Amino acid sequence: MYEELPQKISYPKIEQDILAFWEKNRIFQRSIKERDEKRFFAFFEGPPTANGRPGIHHVIARTVKDAVCRLKTMQGYRVERKAGWDTHGLPVEIEVEKALGLEKKDQIFDYGVAKFNAKCKESVWSYKTEWDAMTRQIGYWVDLENPYITYTNEYIESVWWILKEFWRKGLIYQGHKILPYCPHCETPLSSHEVSQGYEEVKDPSVFVKARLKGEENTSFLVWTTTPWTLLSNVALALNPEVEYVKVLHNGEHLILARERLGELHGEYTIVKQMVGADLENMEYQPFFDFIEPEKKAYYTVPGDFVTTTDGSGIVHIAPAFGEDDYQIGLKYDLPILQPVDKSGKFTKEITPWAGLFVKDADKSIIKNLKERNILYRTEQVLHSYPHCWRCDWPLLYYARKSWYIRTTAFKERLIENNKKINWYPKEVGEGRFGEWLENNIDWALSRDRFWGTPLPIWICRECGHQECVGSMDELKAKSNAVPDDLDLHKPYIDDVRLNCEKCGGAMGRVPEVIDCWFDSGSMPYAQWHYPFENRDKFEQSFPADFISEGV
Ligand SMILES: [Zn+2]
Ligand SMILES: [Zn+2]
Repeated sequence: MYEELPQKISYPKIEQDILAFWEKNRIFQRSIKERDEKRFFAFFEGPPTANGRPGIHHVIARTVKDAVCRLKTMQGYRVERKAGWDTHGLPVEIEVEKALGLEKKDQIFDYGVAKFNAKCKESVWSYKTEWDAMTRQIGYWVDLENPYITYTNEYIESVWWILKEFWRKGLIYQGHKILPYCPHCETPLSSHEVSQGYEEVKDPSVFVKARLKGEENTSFLVWTTTPWTLLSNVALALNPEVEYVKVLHNGEHLILARERLGELHGEYTIVKQMVGADLENMEYQPFFDFIEPEKKAYYTVPGDFVTTTDGSGIVHIAPAFGEDDYQIGLKYDLPILQPVDKSGKFTKEITPWAGLFVKDADKSIIKNLKERNILYRTEQVLHSYPHCWRCDWPLLYYARKSWYIRTTAFKERLIENNKKINWYPKEVGEGRFGEWLENNIDWALSRDRFWGTPLPIWICRECGHQECVGSMDELKAKSNAVPDDLDLHKPYIDDVRLNCEKCGGAMGRVPEVIDCWFDSGSMPYAQWHYPFENRDKFEQSFPADFISEGV
């Protein structure tokens, strides 16, 4: 009744036979075509990048996707699975930089942006053969013959359309904000990129003395783990409600929070008690005087964010290098001292350390503080510090110009909708993802890089009028002579000038590209080149019934 089994069974051979049977008889295609269009189960394939070798975690992700899609197929649903490839962004650029031996961003200009981007385009397929082989081998059913690819003009056009919709609603703006910035890649990173790169590192923990003006032998005790930011210090913040004390210690007077007295090594006598509010607007001598501030600086300000959980209860303020600092700077009209260039090195005003990467200058800065007798003590602390998830450089927090999407305008709706999602496992939705939404900040969209979807914003050189372009047709209508086969990438798109509708002047595109996570996030629309084509396909498949990502 049954076929007799051979003595020795080769499982790999059985697998190959089954795969060959599926392919020969186009079983995957039939499993879709033979199901009723009305019983549609929408699956979104988040795009992997084929510029890296597939790993075992990809196998896990694909297995989960496949299992659910097959189950739904067996239950009689029509489950279309369009494959996709994520092709833009810093990961690709970094691989190409390595291959070409380019170490700094400036060298890319020397090499030529057109040539560089051509290399990037080529490199995204480096491991396509391996990816296809892995996908076939594990029996993952997905339509590899008609994938969406994020670098195509059609895909970019859909992304532009989305951005234009946001623009129309006033949800895209250019702002100054403190951003986590990679001095090696020379680009700001978004919060989800930063969260991927925390590492335990040893940093100096330094207590310095800020000498009071007009009060002999008396100093505020100030704590920092980034001595290099002391060069940009312009104020000290004290919590108005916290109790502070003045102590006599080693023959001098120090002021610190009462709860932080444990930081003093050796004996001390309390000579005065007060609250932070009593200590406002007191002037002190700057730690360094390489830069002359253009506004009033070097005095104490109130700060509710100052805690007594670590340090001395007195926080040094450098508005160029921290979000709290920047906000305090705005509030009290403090100057911004920014003596650090785009590669994270001190500029020429800082004579002893000019050209040195700021964190590499820490040791020498501490030595200098010690020589001038304003160092109280120093030690090393092990703490978690953000690093670039791609190149592993320590990130710096910088005041920079950047384009944003006002995601915070939708925060409540995002949180509400997240609650309606049936997460597996449940903790991911409430925990990791839910917390990220709760702490949502506006999306830092722009990247000062080359290989990405160009930000479609043009600015008039004469009158400053700004426009966002949402389609090829719009681009053609607003400019002269855009060829039909224009590659929408840099540098070609940067040659396109628009005619300003306000003054008739020439409009140039902003230089930035966008975060590649915005590309992949646009796939529900852009995989179908919506709204320019396939409106029915989009409407049928949006929103998804099933997504499995980040496994
Ligand atoms: Zn980096
Ligand atoms: Zn104009």
